Amino acid sequence: MMKKVLKFGGTSVGTIERIQHVAKIIKRDYDAGNKIIVVVSAMAGQTNDLIQLSKSIANDFSKRELDVLLSTGEQITCALLAGALKKININAQSWLNWQIPILTEGDHTNSRIVNMNVSKINNFINEGVAVVPGFQGISKNGEITTIGRGGSDASAVAFAKLFNADSCEIYTDVDGVFSSDPNKIPVAKKIDRISYDEMLELSSLGAKVIQSSAVQTAMMYNIPLQVRSTFTDRKGTTIFDHENIDYSKSVTGVAYSKNDAKITLIGVEDKPGIAANIFEPLNKAQINVDMVIQNISSDQKTTDITFTIKRDDLKMTKDILNNNQKIKYKNITHNDKVAKVSIVGAGMVSTPGVTYKMFKALADDKINILAISTSEIKLSVIIDEENTLNAVKKLHTIFELD
Ligand code: ADP
Ligand code: ASP
Ligand code: MG
Repeated sequence: MMKKVLKFGGTSVGTIERIQHVAKIIKRDYDAGNKIIVVVSAMAGQTNDLIQLSKSIANDFSKRELDVLLSTGEQITCALLAGALKKININAQSWLNWQIPILTEGDHTNSRIVNMNVSKINNFINEGVAVVPGFQGISKNGEITTIGRGGSDASAVAFAKLFNADSCEIYTDVDGVFSSDPNKIPVAKKIDRISYDEMLELSSLGAKVIQSSAVQTAMMYNIPLQVRSTFTDRKGTTIFDHENIDYSKSVTGVAYSKNDAKITLIGVEDKPGIAANIFEPLNKAQINVDMVIQNISSDQKTTDITFTIKRDDLKMTKDILNNNQKIKYKNITHNDKVAKVSIVGAGMVSTPGVTYKMFKALADDKINILAISTSEIKLSVIIDEENTLNAVKKLHTIFELD
């Protein structure tokens, strides 16, 4: 007998038939004698629809009210799934975030789960299946909060940690974690086992199959995760501590995202402290700067500084730069039609020439690199958005992942 957390994503509970199908998957595990907590997402598309509804009231809709609104998506699925389980004679009960309660800290729409009261659910799972909402909680002031898009994965890991579960299974609409998005790169291969570090890089760099903060918490508390399909019985992917993984390949996966924008300040005075003067107010405004490139100009007195930020922060960044009295520059340009393409692999550490191989492959396809960033196990480039899929396919092939 095991204590299990099972999480079902939006597509998995996207229709009534699918909810009924999910109930059968749960029954299989429950009948085998396991204690089960089920974490659900909102039905596919519902969170986006709710966001659109809020925008039809106001573009700057109150974040407090947005949390109240968005949390309803998962509440609906909780009730429907608990009802579907009862219908097939399984004792089941849904809980809303405040009934547990799931305690969060942080800002509206961007909170994190810090604790929860485990006693009621721990008692209940001795006699039935507990169905709980992902993506949300309640602050110590009693406010409903949400924890960021894709957050039901993080909820599942938080439940696994706080309930001391033996396993945490993330059921989704693909067979597991692939070497790249299988819906865009059909030759991508399923990965049987992947380390926390590699998965964390892949998901932070765009592989949305599992949310990065979920991987981070799992890594911190050494909670192994299984990612598997709701629609097939195929074996999924295990995400776990990195020992015993085969590093014969330099690259494990290729990820991409279209969330970035690039800004260039042309003709900035080249003197000590200038970079600090540029980035200090951005830091204060909690704008996350990712890649930075500085070129020395031919007159040796001025320089061009290019950096990337999240696309959503572009307007605020430009406003801050325009109002910054401490810096002088000739011109400012921006480009939000860029993509970040990344290769990730723990094997990169011990394989020379990976950087050259990536740059050469992109150059051969006449894909211009606009910015570069590296860490021990990843290499990312910013390129024009229109080249994204070509670049991903090319890198997938030359690093022998097809
Ligand atoms: P859920 O609703 O179950 O949380 P998501 O839509 O958030 O599911 O994540 C699953 C999707 O992630 C897949 O349908 C796939 O298109 C996408 N994806 C992106 N990169 C990868 C990858 N490397 N491996 C598997 N899926 C990926
Ligand atoms: N429903 C939320 C979203 O779409 C959370 C989730 O599905 O993980 O972002
Ligand atoms: Mg998801």
